[in-house]
Amino acid sequence: MDMDDIVNKLGKLPPGLVKVIEKYINKIPSVQKEIDRQTDEIMKDIAEDLRPYKEDFSSFTEIPAEGKSREEILKEMEGMALQERDKWKDGLVSGTVYHGDEEHIDFLNKVYAMNSQTNPLHSDVFPSISKFEAEIISMTANMLGAKNANSEVCGSVSSGGTESILLAMKTYRDRAKAEKGITNPEMVVPVTAHAAFNKASEYFNIKLRAIPADENYQVDLKKLKHQINSNTIVIVGSAPTFPHGVVDPISALSDIALKYKVGLHVDACLGGFILPWVKKLDYDVPEFDFSLPGVTSMSADTHKYGFAAKGTSVVLYRNPALRRYQYFTITDWPGGLYFSPTFAGSRPGALSAACWATLVTMGEQGYMEVAKSIMDAAVTIQKGIEGISDLRILGKPFWNIAFTSDNFDIYQLMDFLTSKGWTLNGLHKPSCVHICLTKRHTQAGVAQKFVDDLKEGVEFVKANPNTEGGLAPVYGLAATLPLRGTISQMLKKYMDTIYKV
Ligand SMILES: *Cc1c(COP(=O)(O)O)cnc(C)c1O
Repeated sequence: MDMDDIVNKLGKLPPGLVKVIEKYINKIPSVQKEIDRQTDEIMKDIAEDLRPYKEDFSSFTEIPAEGKSREEILKEMEGMALQERDKWKDGLVSGTVYHGDEEHIDFLNKVYAMNSQTNPLHSDVFPSISKFEAEIISMTANMLGAKNANSEVCGSVSSGGTESILLAMKTYRDRAKAEKGITNPEMVVPVTAHAAFNKASEYFNIKLRAIPADENYQVDLKKLKHQINSNTIVIVGSAPTFPHGVVDPISALSDIALKYKVGLHVDACLGGFILPWVKKLDYDVPEFDFSLPGVTSMSADTHKYGFAAKGTSVVLYRNPALRRYQYFTITDWPGGLYFSPTFAGSRPGALSAACWATLVTMGEQGYMEVAKSIMDAAVTIQKGIEGISDLRILGKPFWNIAFTSDNFDIYQLMDFLTSKGWTLNGLHKPSCVHICLTKRHTQAGVAQKFVDDLKEGVEFVKANPNTEGGLAPVYGLAATLPLRGTISQMLKKYMDTIYKV
């Protein structure tokens, strides 16, 4: 029996049974040893790919006895940065770097340098940073419908989308306990929502009820309603989703949230700073923000389409009473009266300064211009894919476009595109590939090159269905292998590998 047979046979069993079988076979020492041996083998190859600079640059396992010269280190680091810059600068990478123009980066760096010593934990020493953060929150709230919501909308600046989501989920958990006495909290979350919700479920002991998507890759509303009960603290929708770039039916979710008296978090990490402008450009964008009365919190990433440096995001709440459950205070600590609004204690104020400076220098006009050029590129790519009969777009996306094929292994097409220099995202359940368009893809010829490479790739894969050497088999296995615990072990080994010097 080969691997395909095993996968096939296991795939036909109920997932619960597979879990039990897996637990049992993993307890057999020889099986565990064999899995370890094979994954260690794979990790050896990966370890080399993860450290491409071993020979060219110095590496340290201990603090050097004598400090290196600053010039030497700057030169080394510049060498690495330049090598990596080629990867994203020309627009061949999905997502990742959302603006990336040189003048913009220079400006961010200047603002960062000016503020590199600041820390909003010490709001008395650095009142400028508190001002920047308050204004970032206000600008974000008013962009996302606060004006239509009696303007009680408030929030916090966090370190990224994941922190914004974790904060919101903790907030609902603590509110539900205080106001409704809920001690077994549950969240109702579409499977297409970001993994950060699963992380929140693990970290904060909130049971996650996963809701499948319908044929449009939007959350199935009927199934969602069925999962709401007296322990439900929040329901979730995305605007848009990370995998397929599709906006969930937020207006219907808002009605459901009001009817069942539960919170509604709209994850606009990806869309918060572009969807409002795409709507203004007259694309068919439904309501998705605080203008809908059931929306009680949102996350919007300044470090994605807000074009700030990496490390900031905004979490918003409908009113300060809700936000208060996010705050931490301690009044009898020997270190004095202590409070902090988010997970971190000390925080990089320079990132908030750079974020504020980005919002006010971009302006609505600047954001509109970028949004227009991204959507133009998206239209070129969507039309291009629609013109290739072997490919199919999943759902109704805007600028983050997932596609698959009913005629061949889509991961083989991804391998072909990788060979052409593209770095795309391989997704699963169902198997597909997506490209998330950024300002990098608005450079002349990039969108058309993508369409041309797709066409060439489709012909290649059809003519050479058994091409070897790519990652397609790995993706295929990772997507379909029913032994999820084994895959999870592999991912943990991968993280160990990342931390190896
Ligand atoms: C990127 C993203 C997040 C998480 O953001 P991080 O900044 O990577 O933590 C959450 N939701 C969606 C839809 C996203 O695209």
